[in-house]
Amino acid sequence: MSDTEVRAQLREIFRREGLGDSTTVLQLLSQLIPESLQEEWLDQMAEADKKGCPESFVDSLPRVPKSEISPSSSCSICYVNYLNDGYPLVVRLPHCGHDFDLECLSVWFSKSTSCPLCRDDVLSHRAEVDTSQVELEEDWGMYG
Ligand SMILES: [Zn+2]
Ligand SMILES: [Zn+2]
Repeated sequence: MSDTEVRAQLREIFRREGLGDSTTVLQLLSQLIPESLQEEWLDQMAEADKKGCPESFVDSLPRVPKSEISPSSSCSICYVNYLNDGYPLVVRLPHCGHDFDLECLSVWFSKSTSCPLCRDDVLSHRAEVDTSQVELEEDWGMYG
């Protein structure tokens, strides 16, 4: 399968079932990602072992319009040039400004809450809006 075909298939899966079947998605993604990076990726996912971001977070990320995508820019997760795809779905992380394929980032954020590139904790910037975490403060001491 060519990169473009893999991407088309990924997109199809996302449209049909979101992240319901992330095993298939991961298998497809693994065809796009260099092996060295895959290991690092999987390590991190295992290490993270927590929930990751809510799907609504990924949905809420700003899309980069095709007209603003430079011909030389590519996704830092799969290294595929965005414009290889006739209909690139590129999202930008509001805080660090890094951009990625929507599908790559969705998979990443289903397992992690930090930017794949700079490890910036994306959810930490939502603290101002999310007041629910105040109630959790009592528990912090237990985890040192
Ligand atoms: Zn990608
Ligand atoms: Zn970043």
